[in-house]
Amino acid sequence: MKVKFSYLSEQFSNPDPILKKIKKVVKTGNFTLGPEVKALESQFAKACGTSYAVGVNSGTDALFLSLKSLGIAPGDEVITMPNTFIATVGAIVASGAKPVFVDCDNEYLIDIDKIETAITSKTKAIMPVHYAGHPVDMIKILKIAKRHNLYVVEDACQAISAAIDGKVTGSFGITGGFSLHPLKNINVWSDGGIITTNSKETYEKLLLLRNHGMKNRDEYSIFGYNSRLDSVQAAVGLSLIKDLKKITDKRIENASLYDRAFSELKEFITVPPRRKNAKYVFHLYIIQVKNRDQLLSFLNSQGIEAKVHYPIPLHLQECSKSLGYKPGDFPIAERQAKNIITLPVHQHLSKKQILYTIQQVKKFYKK
Ligand SMILES: *Cc1c(COP(=O)(O)O)cnc(C)c1O
Repeated sequence: MKVKFSYLSEQFSNPDPILKKIKKVVKTGNFTLGPEVKALESQFAKACGTSYAVGVNSGTDALFLSLKSLGIAPGDEVITMPNTFIATVGAIVASGAKPVFVDCDNEYLIDIDKIETAITSKTKAIMPVHYAGHPVDMIKILKIAKRHNLYVVEDACQAISAAIDGKVTGSFGITGGFSLHPLKNINVWSDGGIITTNSKETYEKLLLLRNHGMKNRDEYSIFGYNSRLDSVQAAVGLSLIKDLKKITDKRIENASLYDRAFSELKEFITVPPRRKNAKYVFHLYIIQVKNRDQLLSFLNSQGIEAKVHYPIPLHLQECSKSLGYKPGDFPIAERQAKNIITLPVHQHLSKKQILYTIQQVKKFYKK
């Protein structure tokens, strides 16, 4: 049996309905900031429970433009964690600010108790990452931010529809950044991103920043960027956001099959804690395991595309050299990098495929 990590060939096995919508866009010639972009923004804002959403050209730009809209610049510091996707930190660096890392916890999320020791007079913002689709405890983050007068920009790129006590990620911070990359839970046919916010002032700033600072065709109020979401991609996004609940529910269902099975393999497998008031949307299903590298190659040999997200924490990457970190600075992230494994959990997997994966994990541990 094959258990693939990517589901794009299944998801788009019949592209005709979407192609029909794209044909319509092409015929109007309205390629930039057409009505499809507005429509997707409004559906996205609704899904996140925010007043506004702004379509941009990637999740990375969603984070970068968020920081720019807040005036974050060289000399500033932004706090995040080292066990995220490179783009979180890339966006901070692109803004001119210095990324400052805080170790992660046993849910692979920023260790909230360690944030305050990382705050300096230069700190301007905290960028918590709802990693793997696990929602960060935003109530605690917002308390710290308020105490130190900091902005909170949520990296919600992996977490559309995740929630704390029913309040959706991307609606807590001053902004939330989402990615529509082909492998994210809601995706388009290339790159795309969305910024959510409840602040009218930030919303208006973001509209300028993504489109050359243009007030209108002839007047430019600030220097901005070209980071628009394409109308063609928005048409794809509109076709898929309809399935948000179905996609999310199926991922949760698959993850709970894993959770239940692995709770019986405690001597080999650590499933992260699942907080009662949190809704996990499982962009990735990550566990910590004994003999990770051997399990990884065994599963791969059995047709299961397990992966590691990620084997080298960002503070130990070549690109981070100038930040001055060294091995041992973030022991939890470093230990997890050696133990974590990601199992396929996407919405196109059948129960049979999940059970097969569980069976192969058990077989590896001779259980
Ligand atoms: C995917 C991702 C991003 C960047 O999104 P792109 O659309 O690929 O630019 C940022 N942060 C995290 C945590 C991500 O997973």
